[in-house]
Amino acid sequence: MKRFRMTDPIPVVYGGRHRRVLEHPDHRKGINHGMMTITTIIDVAPSVVRLEALLDHEGDASRWLATNPALRLELPDVDGSSTVSRVYTVRSYREVGSRRLIDVDIVRHTGDSPVMQWLSGVRRGTSVRILGPRPHFCPSFIDGRPALLFADETAIPALTTILRDWPEAHPGLVWAETPDRAVIDEIPRPQGVEIHWLPRAVPEAPGTTGRLVDAAIEASAVHPEPITVWACGEHQEMRRIRDHFRRDREMRREDVQVFGYWRRGRTSSQIDEARLQRYEEALALNPRMTVLDDFDVDD
Ligand SMILES: Cc1cc2nc3c(=O)[nH]c(=O)nc-3n(C[C@H](O)[C@H](O)[C@H](O)COP(=O)(O)OP(=O)(O)OC[C@H]3O[C@@H](n4cnc5c(N)ncnc54)[C@H](O)[C@@H]3O)c2cc1C
Repeated sequence: MKRFRMTDPIPVVYGGRHRRVLEHPDHRKGINHGMMTITTIIDVAPSVVRLEALLDHEGDASRWLATNPALRLELPDVDGSSTVSRVYTVRSYREVGSRRLIDVDIVRHTGDSPVMQWLSGVRRGTSVRILGPRPHFCPSFIDGRPALLFADETAIPALTTILRDWPEAHPGLVWAETPDRAVIDEIPRPQGVEIHWLPRAVPEAPGTTGRLVDAAIEASAVHPEPITVWACGEHQEMRRIRDHFRRDREMRREDVQVFGYWRRGRTSSQIDEARLQRYEEALALNPRMTVLDDFDVDD
């Protein structure tokens, strides 16, 4: 029987169509609701805005301090007629007296999307409803095998938390694509880890260069020994990386953690809808299913 994996950290689609799925315990497990209020806005680089925000959440700090926590921001859709949600990584969490603060890095992109529209109006004091946090995927660290990591700029906050919590002296190789050197310079550099910047020229569109895919295939040839892989970025590029390691190199599923953080030409709402529909179909086939892999059932 085929195994499925539900890979979305906090799957939420609004409206009644997926209510049965949303009420499934797999989806509701550990989801907190709350508000965050922006306290500082920093232009880290031309491509990235860092929002420092004050949480109104009570409760367990360990969820925020976990490696690679993600949350959903609830925002108005571009036409203001409904609410949508978008997933972002909690880059860091700290407590200052009784105040609980997080940093979220938002990559700027072209087009009039819900996040870009919201970001253009964000000021100190802007509040937004949030769901989460919930931990997203981390690399497998097994028996000193080199861990190979591939990230586009949307996954650099996730990469940052992974490198912050890196196991002592574990061998690692990282390739990160971003137009901005300043973003690379901030990434933690634990002992045993090599970091390679894949610069992208500003006129090149994100998710189109294939540089992460090329880096993955080259690195795979240079490392024929047992390795593990973690990769996050644009969906189609991630699919090619996943196919290389799973299909061509025949690596085990548990050694290859690959996830599409966004997809060219599709909104996250469309991706969520499709993912939940597949989840519902898989659930109908196997009511005890807990695991759904996007790339297994992808178009
Ligand atoms: C677990 C997880 C963690 C994430 N963490 C972060 C994070 O920390 N920082 C971050 O910036 N993003 C992060 N993302 C990606 C982010 O959720 C998406 O980029 C999201 O689509 C942005 O929403 P939007 O409203 O701007 O665009 P949407 O309405 O979803 O899409 C509108 C259009 O914009 C395009 N688009 C969306 N994102 C990009 C992009 N980055 N570059 C170019 N075109 C794009 C889409 O293809 C679509 O055509 C994460 C995603 C996941 C699943």
